[in-house]
Amino acid sequence: MPIYEYRCKTCGHRFSRLSRVVVSADEETPPLCPSCSSAETMRVVSSFSWGGPSGPDPQEVAYQRQQEERLASITPREKIEEWRKARKD
Ligand SMILES: [Zn+2]
Repeated sequence: MPIYEYRCKTCGHRFSRLSRVVVSADEETPPLCPSCSSAETMRVVSSFSWGGPSGPDPQEVAYQRQQEERLASITPREKIEEWRKARKD
């Protein structure tokens, strides 16, 4: 059974609901907000389905950024080593 995620348009509360059947967002009746009982809720794409061709994987993006920052912090030290060697020679 799929778990759908919803967001309340009235109060912004996010909640998930286990569905008995697979339904498209157009066909289903949106559930009431458990926080404020508003019927103005909309289905949102679950964060678990990100990644692949549909969008970037947040973990992958964080890893890439980490690598870039590491590289940026290493480069000046390597330059200094180069200068030191050049001075010795
Ligand atoms: Zn609400």
